[in-house]
Amino acid sequence: MLAPFTAGWQSNDVHPLGSYVYDINGNKYLDSLAGLWCTALGGSEPRLVKAATDQLNKLPFYHSFWNRTTKPTLDLADDLLSMFTASKMGKAFFTNSGSEANDSHMLCSLRRVATIDTIYVALTVIRHSHLQRITKNCFTLCYVKLVWYYNNALGRPNKKKFIARSKAYHGSTLISASLTGLPALHQKFDLPAPFVLHTDCPHYWRFHLPGETEEEFATRLAKNLEDLILKEGPETIAAFIAEPVMGAGGVIPPPKTYFDKVQAVVKKYDILFIVDEVITAFGRLGTMFGSDMYNIKPDLVTLAKALSSAYVPIGATLVSPEIAAVVDSQSNKLGSFAHGFTYSGHPVACAVAIEALKIYRERNIPDHVKQIAPRFQEGTKAFAGSPIVGEIRGVGLILGTEFANNKSRDDPFPAEWGVGAIFGQECQKRGMLVRVAGDSIMMSPPLTMTPGEVDENNSSLSGGNNAPE
Ligand code: PLP
Repeated sequence: MLAPFTAGWQSNDVHPLGSYVYDINGNKYLDSLAGLWCTALGGSEPRLVKAATDQLNKLPFYHSFWNRTTKPTLDLADDLLSMFTASKMGKAFFTNSGSEANDSHMLCSLRRVATIDTIYVALTVIRHSHLQRITKNCFTLCYVKLVWYYNNALGRPNKKKFIARSKAYHGSTLISASLTGLPALHQKFDLPAPFVLHTDCPHYWRFHLPGETEEEFATRLAKNLEDLILKEGPETIAAFIAEPVMGAGGVIPPPKTYFDKVQAVVKKYDILFIVDEVITAFGRLGTMFGSDMYNIKPDLVTLAKALSSAYVPIGATLVSPEIAAVVDSQSNKLGSFAHGFTYSGHPVACAVAIEALKIYRERNIPDHVKQIAPRFQEGTKAFAGSPIVGEIRGVGLILGTEFANNKSRDDPFPAEWGVGAIFGQECQKRGMLVRVAGDSIMMSPPLTMTPGEVDENNSSLSGGNNAPE
């Protein structure tokens, strides 16, 4: 049983705790999971705290419904649309979490919105410049519902199925858990929903055939995807969703050419590509977005976690100008898009996210990650030699370690041994927190980690002279 953790700040303590957390007994831990893949700027960034308090003092809340929204909501939409350059995005939508953002790919708001700068003018002022911006750049949406709405608008009511991948993680609401490819999230929940299909996980070490190269493996997976589309009927498949690097499924970077090959397939059959960047956005892989690293050109993008460095809950979805135009064209016919959350585009969350984005750019966080990544990835090599380590894999500041008897993927440890959990507990004893899943442990530390902290991380993992045997 883990001791509860205190807040990142110690009482009377004004120095930043950065990459560490403390339990209630005062023990200090290197937070090698950044909370839950999310406190990208560490646990005590004063600029984020200030952004939240300034906004709380100015306007703690106003909704983003019908013809109203707030200035931070619009500004964040502008920022995200200009930052994501892998393909052109037309509108941003806000939610409270990554799961909601993924559900939201299925839906969208057609509302026209006015901007409210402070609570004092909330009910009286409509700024026409902002009215144009909100119509142009921002609405609140739900992806899965959006995609359905989009295909209905195009007169393709049968094009509704989603293809996700085995071992993917996309969240835990009804729809996002269906998109998820982990059996634990389906069993006894009557999931996945019938409109969600799963194709192969691109994990070369685990799933390649004898003698198959990574390139051949990627080609086979793309062919399997195409076969699935043809079997179901391309006219029934609406979208394909993928994380650039799978996170909760075990940290699985794809073979180099995998995304080129699957993108060619989905494009061929007029299937939308949704990239789930909830973990990979804002520098985690050493590029601003995972899409930049793998040359992904998505139609829709899911964001959350590092968007606010997790200081306040917020998720976002970006959609292409083409989709936004189709949805806009329906607004007069269908009226308001009946979807949204009370807290969509919450001004405090948006203000914090705007500040986080500023910090990623000002401090050039993706470059910092690129520079420090070799130390982080290479530093685990001592551990890789152990006969019980099957594979260590990662990119940038994300890493997964899979345990296997005699290094063989075909010789897993009995589940009841709980090998991953034992290692997770051992890491904690050594003062480092990691994520455990089955026979894997995973790390995604704050992106601001210093070289010294990386060395501490690596020596806790390898255990110095106590490396596992
Ligand atoms: N998508 C990915 C890739 C994730 O890793 C997660 C959460 O870990 C989600 C979506 C769901 O986000 P949330 O937990 O904020 O709903």
